[in-house]
Amino acid sequence: MKIVRLKTAVVEGNFDWTFVRIETDEGIQGLGECFFAPGLTGILRSMEPLLVGEDPRDVHRLFRKLRLAASGAGSVAGIVYNAISGIEAALWDLLGQSLNTPIYGLLGGKFRDQIRIYADCHGGEALESLDEVLRSRRPSWLKQIAKHTPKDYYDQKNDEMESSPRAYAERAIAMKAQGYTALKFDLDVPGAEGRDVHNRCLTNRSIDHMVNLIGAVRDAVGYDIDLAADCHWRYSVADAIKVAHALEPFRLLWLEDPVPPESIEALRAVSSRVNVPIATGENLYLFEGFQEILQTHAVGIATPDLQKVGGFSAAQQIANFADVQTIPIAPHNISSPVGTLAAAHFCAAIPNFLVLEFHASDVPFWNDLVEGVPKPLIQNGMIQAPTKPGLGVKLNEEVARKYARRGEPFFE
Ligand code: MG
Repeated sequence: MKIVRLKTAVVEGNFDWTFVRIETDEGIQGLGECFFAPGLTGILRSMEPLLVGEDPRDVHRLFRKLRLAASGAGSVAGIVYNAISGIEAALWDLLGQSLNTPIYGLLGGKFRDQIRIYADCHGGEALESLDEVLRSRRPSWLKQIAKHTPKDYYDQKNDEMESSPRAYAERAIAMKAQGYTALKFDLDVPGAEGRDVHNRCLTNRSIDHMVNLIGAVRDAVGYDIDLAADCHWRYSVADAIKVAHALEPFRLLWLEDPVPPESIEALRAVSSRVNVPIATGENLYLFEGFQEILQTHAVGIATPDLQKVGGFSAAQQIANFADVQTIPIAPHNISSPVGTLAAAHFCAAIPNFLVLEFHASDVPFWNDLVEGVPKPLIQNGMIQAPTKPGLGVKLNEEVARKYARRGEPFFE
């Protein structure tokens, strides 16, 4: 079997869902999804000549070929690996189809048939669409929803209306009613920032506001629902510790990214002084990116993203090493059903899986994007491990084309 072509398409969901399709001379195709990045489809196209003529079933060898090519340009991590992750997933899809085995079968088989999902609830709502540099935008599906207020990711203003405990509670009740047993909310929201949004420092008032938000959720859904909180890298070590202590009575599943991701020492300082598991990983690449935080227990829970970390093999290396350190894996995931199902294969195949993210509950066409699997994909807060060979799902191209990003090729 030989690779003859690599094609891409981008769908405007709540993020740019970037698909890579690898076509072969035997007529079968592999499908992968990449985490968004500026210039991503250009990177994917540049990699096509490295793959054409190769046997797609040599997944590890081709990964190493792409890795060598990327490192020559200086990329030992970073967004080139968003591209490689999607390609690597498409190669596993092809290998699985050629051997008539689901991807988790190629990874050593399943530990579980059902993948537990947590709903990302943002700041009480999850209605947004962000471009590749995190500016708010209004794709066609979002224009139809009147209540949406556009907000750039970076745009945190002190004068914005305070996020409300009631909205948090209502969102939690709604997601619990859908069957989710684990939820995540943002803590870095209006009303919970300090006097100066740049110095990473919080006021007592802002910490009290966080306590009110999380307290409202606990009052609404009780303690049987697992609850995580995300800080998006915003705080100083000292103030992250204050936040963790203030939230201790709520028995969080984890506190995510309280400090900037670049400093392992800062992360370790927080982790060693609080009584809540600290989670990080969505900015990290490859095993090498995780090795030190795992072996020094700078984190309690690791959150690699399958669409960016370097692919299944890198993620499995990370998970195995984390397992030796008794650290659970809770993959970050903002992808379409294609990437989510890819992550589900991985989650089925590792012992130390905790829970997988779902970030698109407000995107009305999320389930429609794929065919060949029972729907809705998430039922009672769970995804069934796919049973068909390879990834086990096909993209619905009619739906994908309807929401395709203008100016990007659509599998051309
Ligand atoms: Mg996060």
